Amino acid sequence: MKNTDANINVKEADSLYIAHTYKRFPVEIVSGKGAMLKDDEGKEYVDMGAGVAVNTFGVCDEEWISAVTEQLGKCQHTSNLFYSEPCVRLAKTLCERTGMKKVFFSNSGAEANECAIKAAREYGVTKKGPEYFNIITLENSFHGRSLATLSATGQPAYHTHFGPMTPGFIHTPANDCAALEKNVSENKVCAIMFELVQGEGGVKALTKEFVAKIAELAEKYDILMIDDEVQCGNGRTGKLYAYMHFGIKPDIISTAKGIGAGLPIGATMFGEKTADIYQPGMHGATFGGNPVCAAGANNVLARLTDEFLEDVTKKSEYIVKELTGAKGIKSIAGMGLMLGLETDKENTEIVSAAREKGVLLLTAKNKVRLIPPLCITFEELEKAIKVIKEVCA
Ligand SMILES: *Cc1c(COP(=O)(O)O)cnc(C)c1O
Repeated sequence: MKNTDANINVKEADSLYIAHTYKRFPVEIVSGKGAMLKDDEGKEYVDMGAGVAVNTFGVCDEEWISAVTEQLGKCQHTSNLFYSEPCVRLAKTLCERTGMKKVFFSNSGAEANECAIKAAREYGVTKKGPEYFNIITLENSFHGRSLATLSATGQPAYHTHFGPMTPGFIHTPANDCAALEKNVSENKVCAIMFELVQGEGGVKALTKEFVAKIAELAEKYDILMIDDEVQCGNGRTGKLYAYMHFGIKPDIISTAKGIGAGLPIGATMFGEKTADIYQPGMHGATFGGNPVCAAGANNVLARLTDEFLEDVTKKSEYIVKELTGAKGIKSIAGMGLMLGLETDKENTEIVSAAREKGVLLLTAKNKVRLIPPLCITFEELEKAIKVIKEVCA
């Protein structure tokens, strides 16, 4: 059966009624279990995209569903005028597991970054002077689609026709310590904002040396480190947050995607220097800290144990071992279950061929991007790897 509601053709109605901001794959996902998805015709796929690093435990995960529905049955929203337990619990867990001091909740990655940007400007202006509003971000970065986060995004292609961009963002090449040092010393800067593993920019990790330089300059010039872990956070790299691989302590961490595991939530975490920047009235979000989303996120964090994260690393090592040197694969980069393949064939061609064979892949720039649900099994990975090898060869 094509559609459950005989009155609607999903693909046609989508094209008629939904703004054409997305180029969709010709597949309608209707159900699934973990990393296995099913389309409207009953065809099964191994999911190597997790709804863009969102579905940490895949789909139809019973534990997460009960956490969410239990809260749904109690109270779905209170507004931030009242106390609410799930979001307090979530903030406490995040602080205890990261050493950060306070958390602001919103509904998306862009909003989590907006909150970080406003906080950095407030810090610069009050601590250093009114001209210290500049934030250094990296070329090839991605920080969101709102105007400020788009301005922060170091990819001119996303800016076209949406100008003027919000002033106060300076883009510097990733992994170029000298250029960073020059930009920091020649401008009035309040923060450096970065993804430790660039996602949309082509799945590239920053070098340890560059990250150490960011930390050194941040200390020297009293500049905040804003760590955008919207995509690479929440266990994706094999640690709870990616900064834990780099020996730094960010002043602000933003996250979203995988912490929500399918429900919209953004979180901006503040360290020692930044914990008290926000005072009543300075920032807000109507849905922020929503108890249903928070209940789901609490379940996600409780299950991202050291043991589980070690497994994420093992799965990553397995993929890397299997695909390194495979025919048609030029390189493999990234960390944990956030990997990018450089291939001989066009990445879009590979994604289409894999889809035909029941494996859903994504792209990032010229790469094939692998960001499966963290719960994917070795058997499922084995199937996906077999197909990836076939279509890349
Ligand atoms: C996806 C993403 C964002 C934007 O998140 P939204 O929830 O789409 O607003 C910001 N930063 C990074 C690194 C991302 O991958």
